[in-house]
Amino acid sequence: MVSTQVVTGIGVSPGRAVGPVVHLPDAVAEPPAGRRLPPGADTDGAAEEVARAAAAVRDELDAAADAADGEVAALLYATAAMAADPSLVADAQHRVRTEHLVPERAVWEAADAVCAQLEALGGYMAERVRDVLDVRDRLVARLTGQQAPGVPVRTSPYVLVAHDLAPALTATLDPARVVAVVTAAGGPTSHTAILARARGIPAVVAAAGALDVPEGTVLLVDGAAGTATPDPSDEAVARVRALAGATRTFDGDGRTADGHGVELLANVGDPAEAQAAADSGAQGVGLFRTEFAFLDRTQAPDVDEQTAAYGRVLAAFEGRKVVVRTLDAGADKPLPFLHAAPEANPALGVRGLRVAQARPDVLEDQLTAIARAAAAHPGTTTWVMAPMVATVDETEHFVAACARHGLPTAGIMVEVPSAALLAGPLLAHARFASIGTNDLTQYTMAADRLLGDVAALSDAWQPAVLRLVEATCQGGAAQARPVGVCGEAAADPALAVVLVGLGVTSLSMTPRALPDVAAVLAATDLATCRVLARRAADAPSAADARAAVRAGLPVLDELGL
Ligand code: PEP
Ligand code: MG
Repeated sequence: MVSTQVVTGIGVSPGRAVGPVVHLPDAVAEPPAGRRLPPGADTDGAAEEVARAAAAVRDELDAAADAADGEVAALLYATAAMAADPSLVADAQHRVRTEHLVPERAVWEAADAVCAQLEALGGYMAERVRDVLDVRDRLVARLTGQQAPGVPVRTSPYVLVAHDLAPALTATLDPARVVAVVTAAGGPTSHTAILARARGIPAVVAAAGALDVPEGTVLLVDGAAGTATPDPSDEAVARVRALAGATRTFDGDGRTADGHGVELLANVGDPAEAQAAADSGAQGVGLFRTEFAFLDRTQAPDVDEQTAAYGRVLAAFEGRKVVVRTLDAGADKPLPFLHAAPEANPALGVRGLRVAQARPDVLEDQLTAIARAAAAHPGTTTWVMAPMVATVDETEHFVAACARHGLPTAGIMVEVPSAALLAGPLLAHARFASIGTNDLTQYTMAADRLLGDVAALSDAWQPAVLRLVEATCQGGAAQARPVGVCGEAAADPALAVVLVGLGVTSLSMTPRALPDVAAVLAATDLATCRVLARRAADAPSAADARAAVRAGLPVLDELGL
C-alpha cells in the first residue's frame, strides 16, 4: 500500500527537517546452514579470515568512534570491542576448524550462541543482543564481500526510514546527510531515541505506516509533534529550510521571560562527557550517573578507582554544582556481583538504593569515594542523591549515611509514585529531590520503559505523571526544598515549560537540549508556564496535554521546535 497520509508516531528528538525518503537496505542475509569449505581447503587460513574480518570491523568502528564524541563515541567503542570479542572470534574459528563451516556461517552460528547466552541473562544483558547482531552482520558482510550493512550513501541529504535502527547504526548517522529518522518500531527511551537526541537528529519512532511511504517521496518530519508528512506544501518546506540555518547556544543562565531563574543542568554518564557538558554552558550537573564505573565488572571498583573517576567529573565543573547519583544497579542494569539470582520482575526488584540493604559495603565505599573526591575539589559544590527511594525510612538512612561521610547535601530521586505522594515527609529529611521522569512514568503507567509496544503509555506528558510531579513540588515547597527534574522530560522544551509551571526549580538534560529549552523558557513568563501546566495536568490524555501546551507556545513554531 502506498501512503500519502500523514504518518504519526512518537516524537523522540525535536526539530523539523525535510528530505526525500531513503529506506534502510535489507539486512544481511543468513548464510545457508551447513555451508562447508570444499574438501582439502585450508581451514587454518579460513579461520584466520574471521580474525582479519573482526579486526577490520573493529578498526572501522573505532575510527567512527574517534570521529564522534560523548555518548556516541562510548557506544561505538563498546560495539568495536564487541566485534573484536575474543570469545566470539574464537568460537567462530573453532567452528571453521572442527565443523569446516565457511567463515561467514561460522560467525553466524557463533553470534547466535552469544545471543542465546545474553538472552538467558536477561535485563541489560539481553539488550546487548541487538548490538551482537549488528556486529555479526558487519562481519558477514565483510567476509562475503557485500556492502556493509548500515546507512545508505547518497550525494544529498535524506530522511532515513526503517523498521528499527540498531544503536550502533544510529550512532554513525551524520546529521548533515541524514536529516531525520522515522522508524516503525522503537520506544521513547530506547537507545536509538536517546542517541538521535544526542546527535540532534529529529526522530519519530513507533510510526506504523512509515514503511509504506515510497522511496523518494519528500517527507517533512516533525520530531517534536511526532509526525511525518509526505509531499508537504512549498510554504512548509521553505519554513523548515529557513529555520535550519539558525543555530542556538546556551549562555549559561536559565530563566523565564520575566526573570524567574531555572537552573539548566546537564546529565552526564561518565567522566568523558563531563568536559563537553561543561563547555555547553550547563550550569552544573543535575545527574551524574555513576553506573559506568560498575557495569561490565565482576567486582565493585575499589575506593581509589572510584575517587579518581568521580574527581574527573567534579574537576570539569569547578565553581559549579554536581549532583552525584549513587549506584542505580538492577532492573535493566543488573550487576553479577550484586544480583546473584534472576528476578521475575527486575524493574520491581532489588534496584537502586534497595541494593544497599543487602550490600551496605557497596554504598559505604561509594560514599567514601564521593566524599574524598569532593574534598579534593572544594571549588565544586557536590550534592549526592539516591535512586529509587520509596519510603521515609530509606530516606532517613541514606541522609544519615551521607552525613556520616561529611556529605551534608543529600537528596532523593523521585522515581516511584510512593515518593511523589510522600514528598513532604521525605523532604523533611532530604535536602532536595530530583524527579526521574523516565522511571516515574514507567511505574505510574505500569509500562515498561524499554518496550515499544507500550510507548504511548511511556510518555511523561501523561496527566497522571504530571500530577505526581505537581505533588512532589508541593511537598518540596512545604519543606522549602528544591525539586528538579533529571529525566528525559526535561529535554522537551514544551514539557520543560510545564515542569517549571508545576514548581520545578531545575532541569537536567542531555547538553544538546540546553539551547532549545533555554530559548523557549526565555520567551515564556512564569504566569504562562503556570497556566499551561494547569492545562496539561488537567487534560484528559497525554496527546491532549501536549496539544494544549503546544497551542499556547507560538515560540515553538518560531524556533522550529
Ligand atoms: C529517570 O528514571 O528518569 C532517571 C533519570 O534515571 P535513569 O534514566 O538512569 O533510570
Ligand atoms: Mg531512573
